Amino acid sequence: MTDCIFCKIAAGTIPANIVYQNDDVLAFRDLNPQAPTHILVIPKKHIATTNDITAKDAALIGQMYLAAKQIAKDEGIAESGYRTVMNCNRGAGQTVFHIHLHVLGGRQMNWPPG
Ligand code: AMP
Repeated sequence: MTDCIFCKIAAGTIPANIVYQNDDVLAFRDLNPQAPTHILVIPKKHIATTNDITAKDAALIGQMYLAAKQIAKDEGIAESGYRTVMNCNRGAGQTVFHIHLHVLGGRQMNWPPG
């Protein structure tokens, strides 16, 4: 999508601090980190919200979690603990309408989330 900021990052037309990528997914550091490690994992394909995921995307969503697992290991937070979150729609705090898995760690995470 031409007006989607995460599509532009995936296309390389705007910069990001990329930490991981393969043919289908990309991960980069969040511009406004909420934890010492805060990385966003996105599919290169545009999917606006989790409501728009279809059965055909099952392997792609799995790849996002495999990327998160690898990133957590690389960032040294796999054993101490980390949180993976996908916000869906404005009521959950979604502000960028291209799905992204937040990977947060490096500090104690509280529950329930705000
Ligand atoms: P959400 O509120 O769940 O939609 O998360 C969107 C996230 O994207 C926020 O944590 C923002 O800080 C982050 N963000 C927005 N634009 C950029 C960007 N250009 N590069 C990196 N992170 C971004």
